[in-house]
Amino acid sequence: MSIPVNVIRTIDNQFIILARKNILFNFRPFIMKTSFILLSLFILPFGYLLGEIKNGYEAQLQSTRASLQKLNAQLLEDSNLSSFQRLRIKSEIRSLINIISCYQLTQELINQLKIVSPGMYDEMSNIKDKRERVTDVFIKLIPREQARIPLQAATFFGRSSIDEDTNLSEYGEYSVSVIIWIVDNSLLFLYHELGHIKYVVPNLATYSEFSKKCYHGARDLGYIGHNRHDQSGKIASAFEKRFFEDRATYVSMGREKLESTISIMQKITKNNRHLENAFPPEPSYAQGITNY
Ligand SMILES: [Zn+2]
Repeated sequence: MSIPVNVIRTIDNQFIILARKNILFNFRPFIMKTSFILLSLFILPFGYLLGEIKNGYEAQLQSTRASLQKLNAQLLEDSNLSSFQRLRIKSEIRSLINIISCYQLTQELINQLKIVSPGMYDEMSNIKDKRERVTDVFIKLIPREQARIPLQAATFFGRSSIDEDTNLSEYGEYSVSVIIWIVDNSLLFLYHELGHIKYVVPNLATYSEFSKKCYHGARDLGYIGHNRHDQSGKIASAFEKRFFEDRATYVSMGREKLESTISIMQKITKNNRHLENAFPPEPSYAQGITNY
């Protein structure tokens, strides 16, 4: 059913890949060459206190909006643009709007998690590493065609050079990142990935060693992460069951049926069409929840 993948990056930049599908891929490791000492000075006082499930698009939202405004203005004001240039700008505009839509959709998914299981949301918002440091979980919903990995869900774990227990992702120290395809049941995939995170974040060092021994050279990515002795895989499976229980409880309370991720995306996309000509862009679907 679900085919998530998890990637462990060891301290020496070796990747351990945990997955559930027999497809190999090339993953370009992100580079963290900045001074971790300087970085930690800024992160530590806050990172210890405020863990959160975060929208992975948040950091690029402002620049996306600015670029969108600039391109829309250029289309409106520059009468010297050739047809080819106008087409190219329109294509860029659509890409930027897609980022905004994915941001809004990701926000909706996080909101669904909050509604369906406030307990799960709080639990995972405050997950801590072995040294009791709160670790953020960054989530991105992505269109299938943009996936770098041919798997429906993936979690990226890394080990920082600060110490063997510090989680590292492309968002920095004390964080892990999750990518999920935009599919009908994205929330189920999120639950599954949170199960892996639940175990790996507080057991990063030991899990890295376990993974190296257990999965080194494994070609069947469907096996990786779900060896019968892999505790993260067991919790991921347990979290899938928890999803169905939480959803049943949610429905039994007479709440509105959970909307599918694809259905929400269709509404967001439709609602954002006006951004192709709008200047400046205006707030859209899901006011109060999404705020780009
Ligand atoms: Zn898994």
